[in-house]
Amino acid sequence: MGIDLSMLTTPHRFNHADLVELLNSAGDDRKALFAAAAAVKKEYVGNKVFFRGLVEYSNICSKNCYYCGVRRGNHKVDRYQLTDEEVLEAAQFALDNRFASMVIQSGERTDAKFVDKIEKLLALIKSLSNGKLGITLSMGEQSEETYRRWFAAGAHRYLLRIETSDRQLYSKLHPQDNIHDFDVRIGALKLLRKVGYQVGSGVMVGLPFQTVESLASDLLFLKELDIDMAGLGPFIEHADTPLYQYTGSLLPRTERFDLSLKMVALLRLMMKDINIAATTAMQSIDPQGREKAIMVGSNVIMPNLTPLKYRENYKLYEDKPCIDEEAEQCRSCLEARIHMAGNEIGWDEWGDSHHFAARQGSNQDFASDVAMPTDLPA
Ligand code: SAH
Ligand code: SF4
Repeated sequence: MGIDLSMLTTPHRFNHADLVELLNSAGDDRKALFAAAAAVKKEYVGNKVFFRGLVEYSNICSKNCYYCGVRRGNHKVDRYQLTDEEVLEAAQFALDNRFASMVIQSGERTDAKFVDKIEKLLALIKSLSNGKLGITLSMGEQSEETYRRWFAAGAHRYLLRIETSDRQLYSKLHPQDNIHDFDVRIGALKLLRKVGYQVGSGVMVGLPFQTVESLASDLLFLKELDIDMAGLGPFIEHADTPLYQYTGSLLPRTERFDLSLKMVALLRLMMKDINIAATTAMQSIDPQGREKAIMVGSNVIMPNLTPLKYRENYKLYEDKPCIDEEAEQCRSCLEARIHMAGNEIGWDEWGDSHHFAARQGSNQDFASDVAMPTDLPA
């Protein structure tokens, strides 16, 4: 029997079995999934894409995630940190080009020097832009105090991927120590919500040992977490990481890409008013990857504003695109691509998550007990 496609077009609470079925969909069923997601996107968030200028602030990282090219144990990477001037130049570029927001991403550090530095930088960016530039941070797990200080200094969105909601799989992707603890990461997501950030999370798709059933659980997990923003994309192996040994057992890249697209589409159907990024990793596999993500539900794109000389050393994964393109060139090619995908660009707009705004309105608390994957329907 085929998939009951009525669940795509009538109000429906997707269960685990539905999600597995749709993640495995092919042919006309797959097309129907994408069409339904596109329709929901249009109705709930409109056909507008918001730009966030991405600054890869530093590749200095105290962690050793087994999948990541800038992990502490990779000694082949030259470590860098942008100067204040370089960050401010990128902020000015974002302003001049009417991006309205930037994302500052970095390897994880929790030392006082780093925390102070980020706090000061946030204040500098806010004053440079007269508060006009929205700031998203992606700097890993921090204490509540650090999250509060950075929030007070002007950051109002935070991206922290759970990577996988499967505790067992998480433990295969990270060293077993207290700085790579699954529960701490979930706790950090709760802290971010408590402090007042718009909270973004997501997973990697096509990891070694990951199943479609596990991805279906990820979707239910993100829904349960009630995230405001999502960033998800294919896992891409990096030769200088421990996970590289499993390359032979991975899904082909095109399948990882297609599964990622389906994850975007399903998340759009399940969480209609959140922001969903069309991630760079999508583009690494398919040159039109981000446009395809936009067509099936994404509404945020992050043009890279990192100074060119550092990009080679911020390779979380291999084949990262735009390693040798100036920001300006990236901008014009992106603009044309978004128009081709039938969308407009929300110039000069923060493009905050509607979902966040709606929650503020209803004053609904963050789910205090996030259902663990083991509690989810099998
Ligand atoms: N240090 C911060 C932010 C930088 S890493 C953090 O870890 O949260 C940002 C994201 O890059 C990670 O959350 C992970 O999902 C992604 N990433 C890392 N290595 C990757 C790989 N090999 N393939 C695809 N995505 C990867
Ligand atoms: Fe560091 Fe983030 Fe890479 Fe983990 S994923 S090693 S925390 S930069």
